[in-house]
Amino acid sequence: MGKRFVDCEHMHFNSLREDLNYIIYKHRRLKIVAILYPGGKTAKNNPDLLGCAENALGLRDFLERNGHELVVLTDKESELDRHLPSTDVLITTPFWPAYITKERISNASKLRLILTAGVGSDHIDLAAAAAKGITVAEITGSNVVSVAEQVVMHILALIRNYIPAYKQVLDGRWDIAEIAAKAHDLEGKTVGVIGTGRIGQRVCTRLKAFDINLLYYNNFRLSTVEEFVLGVRYTPLEELIEKSDIITINTPLTPETDGMFNRDLLFRMKKGAYLVNTARGKIVNTNALVEALEKGHLAGYAGDVWYPEPAPVDHPWRHMPNHGMVHHYSGTTLEAQKRYADGIKNCLLNFLNGRAIDRDYLIVDDGKVVSPSYSYAFKG
Ligand code: NAD
Repeated sequence: MGKRFVDCEHMHFNSLREDLNYIIYKHRRLKIVAILYPGGKTAKNNPDLLGCAENALGLRDFLERNGHELVVLTDKESELDRHLPSTDVLITTPFWPAYITKERISNASKLRLILTAGVGSDHIDLAAAAAKGITVAEITGSNVVSVAEQVVMHILALIRNYIPAYKQVLDGRWDIAEIAAKAHDLEGKTVGVIGTGRIGQRVCTRLKAFDINLLYYNNFRLSTVEEFVLGVRYTPLEELIEKSDIITINTPLTPETDGMFNRDLLFRMKKGAYLVNTARGKIVNTNALVEALEKGHLAGYAGDVWYPEPAPVDHPWRHMPNHGMVHHYSGTTLEAQKRYADGIKNCLLNFLNGRAIDRDYLIVDDGKVVSPSYSYAFKG
């Protein structure tokens, strides 16, 4: 009875807030700023490349028809700083991350909403956004299959020694012994999945077919039924680190996971193990990883996430041994771009019409970090 009363009060408050938003925003010309990656020549002939600046997530007509101003930037520094004080809504993307620091948030006095075109809003200072009453939302689930497929690709490419073999072919060489000496089957190996949320679980279902020993660590344990369906066994972090032949990281970047794979953890991994990270570059310590590969403690590392992004030409991960690093693109396949572009439009439609943003998309709302993926790390 008490809970129902509280829920009703909450609903009433939310609907008042929606009415208020409607009155404030419905009849105002809003300035919406999007910072997206440059599409260059590729964008010209490819309207499906929705995530680039030129195609602006397909939003231009929709926003301008409704009387709003859309400014699209590729410059994440001075141009962004120039526009921020007059911006009402900011659209960012993990694939070309504008780092929205506390200082930037304090300079953005009109800012009410920050949207992430994709999944992962760690490039935004979430505590600072909460303190300023800014809503932050991302398009939850939009690219999770895209990333899970890439994780499987990276695992196979590493353990089958694919990249050196392909390179030999390009170089005109034919040394089978050199390649086969470092090529393995995936079958029978122990794979550790860290973070079994939307991506991690999809990684498990895809890997299950390879007849492996699948361990997982998550900050809360899955139900017995989930564990059975996914074919995974819960294992404390230290044990998973020490037992796995291959580890895949699928957690958000939070104050807790920032630098989680430090020198100690990397060197506790099995000698000759592989690490795949499509979550965020900052979860792994940059120099400790280079050392672990150079000393031959790890046999290989792959993924698509770096810090910072884009990776500078002298980023040490570009030149470390036995890596399979690529640009940050696993979650921005053409299919994923369509899904997150649709999601951004849906958020804007709701916001501009004074309606609540889909609860699943909310990261920061009403002065709090509300997303279960992040909130535990922002308590207190
Ligand atoms: P999710 O919230 O569904 O799952 C994350 C899981 O990690 C949750 O189960 C959560 O409980 C767990 N977790 C959080 N902190 C943890 C910790 N300290 N230790 C163990 N487990 C922890 O999110 P998702 O959709 O699976 O995405 C995960 C992350 O992947 C995103 O936050 C983003 O950083 C990254 N991502 C990358 C790409 C890409 O293109 N490379 C695309 C999408 C997402």
